[in-house]
Amino acid sequence: MKTKYFFFIIMSLFILSSCNEEDKVLISNKMSVNALLQLEQAKLTIYAMGFDTTSISEWGNYYVVEGDILIYKDSVNPTKIKTRQYRTNFYVNNFREITIGVNNTISRSTNWRDAVKEVVRLYNEYTGLTFVYSENNPNITIYKSNISGTNVCASGTFPPSPGEPGHEIIINSNFYRDIDTYLDLNQKIFLLMHELGHNLGLRHTNGISEGDGGVGLVQIPGTPIVDPNSFMNGGTCSYSWDVISTYDKIALEYLWPCCRISFAGSSRPGIKVPSGYHLSRFVIPTSIEGFCGWYEDAALTIPWKYVNEITSDITLYPKWILGGSITRIEDTSDTSYSTTFTLSRTALVSLQATVGRGFNEWWDISKYTNQTGVALGKSSSIYKMIYLDQYIWNANPESYMEYIDKDPIILDPGTYWLSAFFTPNLGLQYGASGKHGVTTVTLTYY
Ligand SMILES: [Zn+2]
Repeated sequence: MKTKYFFFIIMSLFILSSCNEEDKVLISNKMSVNALLQLEQAKLTIYAMGFDTTSISEWGNYYVVEGDILIYKDSVNPTKIKTRQYRTNFYVNNFREITIGVNNTISRSTNWRDAVKEVVRLYNEYTGLTFVYSENNPNITIYKSNISGTNVCASGTFPPSPGEPGHEIIINSNFYRDIDTYLDLNQKIFLLMHELGHNLGLRHTNGISEGDGGVGLVQIPGTPIVDPNSFMNGGTCSYSWDVISTYDKIALEYLWPCCRISFAGSSRPGIKVPSGYHLSRFVIPTSIEGFCGWYEDAALTIPWKYVNEITSDITLYPKWILGGSITRIEDTSDTSYSTTFTLSRTALVSLQATVGRGFNEWWDISKYTNQTGVALGKSSSIYKMIYLDQYIWNANPESYMEYIDKDPIILDPGTYWLSAFFTPNLGLQYGASGKHGVTTVTLTYY
């Protein structure tokens, strides 16, 4: 870790020597309340930079940390702080799914694939983006090619347009050593975290001198003037991945914020959602038999309320009733408007429907679009509305089409209505000739 501070120490010394004269003044031991407050705030920032703050002292315009490291006061003073993590004008849209993988220029005998998969896992953990490893025409291809300069490890590409990631990461085949063996797995992970950062729209944390560069140099709020642990510092090839720095985490969360919903017991993969999101009643476990709702607590005492806004990371717990029997509720279009039923507990319900004796004259079909189907709701709210095809596909008037619901819905205890309908425009349905159809719906739950 110490080596990472080297740049910082050098920089501090440079600042010191360049303004030596005025800094030789020792300040008084008496400090105002303001100064004390400032010191406490500075300590927090210095601690977050990775330094020990137990014996911090002041010397002129500097804080003295860990005996011999000088930190310029203005660099950690929140009122004077300048942000330093940077992005380009364009950066990738949040909640996007991005595929990334190597192509066949990367030998299978190397561990580049393992490195990319770890980088995928890390960006999935720290951003609202979803990365998927794929070698089948991915959005971002990692490949080996000759980059001019034998000291360059790799090169990323900035987003070409708003929302779109850069499409290539090039590993230098012209590196002065065999880069496949020169970098171990953790060094490859650091390198690819860095290059992928560029592809998503991040610039160098220590890159203020690089200027706009035609792509923009936009400061990311909440990050300090120097972050020696940032994986986006330039000149960091051969650095080893350890943990994400506090401010890199802040930068990633600022650009791609999300709340994570985890589902206990690996009952289904977690999802990332924007803050303020309402969980959908269609989010269900991968295995649904006997499922009867999500709970906020592992003891299954607080059922999840769908009116809740999700504003932080949460875990939901599934409840199961095993060995229960199936309940069926039915409605047909030729009897009543709808069937009402009452659920005494939360249940996962799914629908199945058939349409029989539909139109057999093609010119009738277009006239009655969206007038045949099934619906499910509670008082004036409609939870499901599914329009069905009313065609008869062959000359047999007894033929019917079947619909099986692929999207079961979670319903809380309460009274609901279920309705099957067929276009009423041809008059009475029941018992009429082949032109007059009937829709039937069956709702089931455990
Ligand atoms: Zn770079």
